[in-house]
Amino acid sequence: MSVTVTERDAPLVISFPHVGTEIPSEIPVARILDDTDWDLTTLYDFAAEFGATTLVPGYSRLVVDLNRPPDDRPLYAGATTGLVPTECFDGRPLYTNKPHASEIARRRDTYWRPYHDALRAQLDRLVEKHGRVLLWEAHSIDNRIPRLFDGVLPDLNIGTNEGKSCLPALRDAVAAVAAASGYSHVVDGRFKGGFITRHYGQPQNGVNAIQLELAKQTHLGDGTTRVDETRAAKLRPVLRAMIEAALAVR
Ligand SMILES: [Zn+2]
Repeated sequence: MSVTVTERDAPLVISFPHVGTEIPSEIPVARILDDTDWDLTTLYDFAAEFGATTLVPGYSRLVVDLNRPPDDRPLYAGATTGLVPTECFDGRPLYTNKPHASEIARRRDTYWRPYHDALRAQLDRLVEKHGRVLLWEAHSIDNRIPRLFDGVLPDLNIGTNEGKSCLPALRDAVAAVAAASGYSHVVDGRFKGGFITRHYGQPQNGVNAIQLELAKQTHLGDGTTRVDETRAAKLRPVLRAMIEAALAVR
């Protein structure tokens, strides 16, 4: 399944582009799913209560990375992974023979495009209805990946494409909640927002986009791929407050 869209009517879309784990059997990629944003929809279990429209892909980022541009231009200087990753974050190879350009184009049309068509349609629907919409890009990552960044990542990494993907007051409101939360945080640090945040975040057209890259250590059990309910119970009020603060900005 390329994407499961749950339509609701609040001016809020939560996109989970890296939670998928399916890999079509004909794709000869190593089944190393370590870079999945594990169990993130469980963490955001309040989405329905908020009236949020959600987009949940079925396929793994190993099939195609939904948060990379269709032309695969690099988003970050230095080490990163592309539209069709050929290595894990830690550098392990995923292929014996890397996919050719024609295969990359096929995956873009087959697996990337449906997610983006759905996201565009939902944003348009909600801007039509409300005049504006908050696009919350939900992500998670290990807080130590030496190949991608030095040291230990903060708990809450807020990305707004250097302030261009949302109104300044909205960025400030979310950052203020993070600063008061007791978690470490940074705004537009190592993770400034991927393709989705940068492409769809156009406050002048009614779409305010924010990426929240959470350290996995804030909510997963140590060495597991499942939410630890004690950690999640502490983090969820902060997530709710950040989203509420963003929605309150007019
Ligand atoms: Zn992610």
